[in-house]
Amino acid sequence: MSEAVSISDEVLELTADGPRLIGARCEDCGNYVFPAQSGCSRCTGSRMQRVVLGTQGTLWAWTIQGFPPKSPPYLGDTARETFKPYGVGYVTIPGELKVEGRLTEADPKRLKEGMRMRLVTVPLRKDDNGRDIVTFAFEPVEGESP
Ligand SMILES: [Zn+2]
Repeated sequence: MSEAVSISDEVLELTADGPRLIGARCEDCGNYVFPAQSGCSRCTGSRMQRVVLGTQGTLWAWTIQGFPPKSPPYLGDTARETFKPYGVGYVTIPGELKVEGRLTEADPKRLKEGMRMRLVTVPLRKDDNGRDIVTFAFEPVEGESP
């Protein structure tokens, strides 16, 4: 396997134990935000603390991205000939928040509200040194297909 680098260390950390998402929690009202930001979206407070989010959750809503998104901001492959559809969804991280992200499953028949999902990474493209630039995605937990 080739070396992987995170698309952004401020959002996604690649650890020996797997990928971790970095968010922030408001010390005043307990609100979680992702990606991390300096102000709270709920109470407008500014005492935000960096937190590592949970790596498992449940699928809440999703759609299938069937054509290349606009680039920029999209950094992956946008060539229509090689583009592969992928799922995009919201995963509820228990006690924290809903995270929007790519899904490894692109077949809507294999996705079900409330199914358990876990955090993984998917390659987006190569950098100049031939390393895989990866972003985060959610993958159905095995044995839980609908
Ligand atoms: Zn707050």
